[in-house]
Amino acid sequence: MSTVLVIGAGGVGSVAVHKMAMNSDIFSKIALASRTKSKCDAIAASVKERTGVDVATYQIDADNVPATAALIREVQPKLVVNLALPYQDLNIMDACLETGVHYMDTANYEPRDQAKFEYHWQWAYQDRFKDAGLMALLGSGFDPGVTSVFAAWLKKHKLDTIEQLDILDCNGGDHGQAFATNFNPEINIREVTAPARHWENGEFVETPAMQVSQKFEFEGVGEKTMYMMYHEELESLAKFLPELKRARFWMTFGEEYIKHLTVLQNVGMTRIDPVMYEGKEIVPLQFLKAVLPEPSSLGETTKGKTNIGDIATGIAKDGERRTFYINNICDHEDAYAETGNQAVSYTTGVPAMIGAAMILTGKWSGDGVFNMEEFDPDPFMDMLNEHGLPWQVKELDGPVEF
Ligand code: NDP
Repeated sequence: MSTVLVIGAGGVGSVAVHKMAMNSDIFSKIALASRTKSKCDAIAASVKERTGVDVATYQIDADNVPATAALIREVQPKLVVNLALPYQDLNIMDACLETGVHYMDTANYEPRDQAKFEYHWQWAYQDRFKDAGLMALLGSGFDPGVTSVFAAWLKKHKLDTIEQLDILDCNGGDHGQAFATNFNPEINIREVTAPARHWENGEFVETPAMQVSQKFEFEGVGEKTMYMMYHEELESLAKFLPELKRARFWMTFGEEYIKHLTVLQNVGMTRIDPVMYEGKEIVPLQFLKAVLPEPSSLGETTKGKTNIGDIATGIAKDGERRTFYINNICDHEDAYAETGNQAVSYTTGVPAMIGAAMILTGKWSGDGVFNMEEFDPDPFMDMLNEHGLPWQVKELDGPVEF
């Protein structure tokens, strides 16, 4: 029986809170705080209608550490689940240390002025969390999150060593809009326009953004073009699976998305440095976010499926070189029917609930800062099957040919 405080009332926060309410044996009391309280109230009303569970709501600016610490003291949670934006990670970690509460998030810290996607800022909290006897779990979404748990499961049950790893993220959903992003537009566009980086023979190799592409037949979706990009779990996987010779991350994008993004980039609308406009500083990408559809508004119209998973090649338990493909397929309309959010929020919010459950039930425990692949994958994988994200694994004929 534990109280949880969720910070962030976007699409991911909405799914996580709905799923926590459906598991009230683990999450006995749920509090939701965000910058805009009306968004928390709307989620609480939907949760009440769907599950009968009450969610307490609060206004908070999580960039303000003393205010966040005061809120934590008022709510007295065992765990704070950070589903706001990556900019808030360090401030919320500081507030957790100040109040003696465990921490969890779904995306690594980013400074506002650099799109870097590196764990070192959060790994630097290792000693402080350890000394305080607290746990910080980083990246409990789908990617990062489930993709690392998939790798840990393959290593536990199928492969003694993983030499090659490809993470394939396909969103085959169609929301009927010319251009929109499926999660926070600012974070999404920063990620997509950053140079691609992949792990090869002990170092990261950088290539220009969206230059390397590959067609792939995704079950439940069809053939899609996926682009190699950098994603933060490559950094933690390279650290915790030191035998990896190559690790890459791929994401699918439609032609319309690429066309719009190219134009926006060419005209400077994706810049993250401030420019002067009518005597006031504005950041073009933040202005762009303000005119794009809110991801949480796309749920009602999005049709199709997501298919996200890992293809891993290595030496199997029987000594043979083998390749396995492990993935989840999630339907946008089913996700919307259950929680009122599309599948990109759903595939992130469900693992956020499960990561929180791992901490609150003590199935995953430890003092310090942890990534997902450091723990026993089995209880997490069981909960994926039980709570809406069933996975499948199959052996392929051989390693990927690209
Ligand atoms: P949204 O933009 O929809 O929601 C973010 C929420 O955080 C909003 O409610 C926003 O408030 C709130 N917020 C922003 N700044 C503050 C602040 N200073 N204090 C308090 N609240 C704040 O994003 P998503 O729900 O799509 O994504 C949430 C997180 O999940 C992001 O960090 C994203 O990177 C991560 N993510 C991770 C994935 C994974 O697989 N690991 C996949 C997708 C997303 P307001 O409404 O007032 O703006």
